Amino acid sequence: MEIKKTILEKSKQKPPVKDPSQVVFGGTFTNHMFTLRYREGKGWFDPHIQPFQDLSLSPAALVLHYAQEIFEGMKAYRSPRGEILLFRPEENARRLNRSLKRMCMPPIPEEDFLVYLKELLKVEREWVPEKKGTSLYIRPTVIATEPKLGVKPSTEYLFYIILAPVGLYFKGGLKPVSLWMTRDYVRACEGGTGEAKTGGNYAASLYAGELAKQKGYGQVLWLDAKENRYVEEVGAMNIFFVINDKLVTPRLKGTILPGITRKSVLQLAGDMGLDTEERLISIDEVIEGIESGALTECFGAGTAAVICPVGTLSLDGKEYVINDNRIGKWSQTFFDTITDIQGGLAEDKYHWIEKVD
Ligand SMILES: *Cc1c(COP(=O)(O)O)cnc(C)c1O
Repeated sequence: MEIKKTILEKSKQKPPVKDPSQVVFGGTFTNHMFTLRYREGKGWFDPHIQPFQDLSLSPAALVLHYAQEIFEGMKAYRSPRGEILLFRPEENARRLNRSLKRMCMPPIPEEDFLVYLKELLKVEREWVPEKKGTSLYIRPTVIATEPKLGVKPSTEYLFYIILAPVGLYFKGGLKPVSLWMTRDYVRACEGGTGEAKTGGNYAASLYAGELAKQKGYGQVLWLDAKENRYVEEVGAMNIFFVINDKLVTPRLKGTILPGITRKSVLQLAGDMGLDTEERLISIDEVIEGIESGALTECFGAGTAAVICPVGTLSLDGKEYVINDNRIGKWSQTFFDTITDIQGGLAEDKYHWIEKVD
């Protein structure tokens, strides 16, 4: 499909943000966005790169009432040679389609998705920042736009991609965060939508997230919905532990988002000689491991922070400190290895990098 382009006159364009550390994370957008519409019987049509602007939507649009929507999160990086790089974008294209399917929304061919994204990035290429650790965050989104009050899949959709320059998640280097666990609230249950990247999962997580903040913790580490006993994930990051010199992470069982950073960490670990296990991890095992010293590291993994070391866990009013609240060896190794590959600073042994152009 031919992409229509409506480009802002140079004099009306905002200049690109050179140092995204100076702007609010995820609050500043580039000059243009990509949009694509869908109607039942017609399929996807009207691909358009146009000035970033507010959407026009019926107040009855299904997304606003029944939350039929999905999204993705990825980044474009600038290599030292000036190229624009994507990290495993075909994985995002595949996951986007899995999320769409779960939410009864029509698929977007993976090749088309990548073409649309690359075309938008070419228009906004000056917005991919150069400073080490900075990137252009990419938010592909699909929403149900049919105006109707009635619980059913929409017959009309809007797919759009917006771009936001972002700085380092941790200004001044990695810093361990604290996580709060609760038995009173859950994020996802088996058979639910936990493994889809859909807004409803986040809406469901807000209340406990606010409680965690009130208590002085950074985020919630979710436990399973059935027994409130097994560790699941951190809402926008998958969770890893180093226990008895093995890298352990909860296995994907429908309630956990299959992170691309997670998948990459598991693959790298294997090749670095660190044994990996994907399995159930009970909170008792975690606490015993911290107390006995068998558990030496804990970190989150996701596109935004890449690797986020965890220094403190809290459960039932008790606090458990991991590795003296310092960054662990493996956390730092995975952070450095992945960010070097993403930024084009290290050899791309795994063919994870795709150049735009
Ligand atoms: C996006 C997301 C992740 C991380 O996935 P990445 O592909 O590594 O960015 C983890 N958990 C949830 C709930 C997410 O939405």
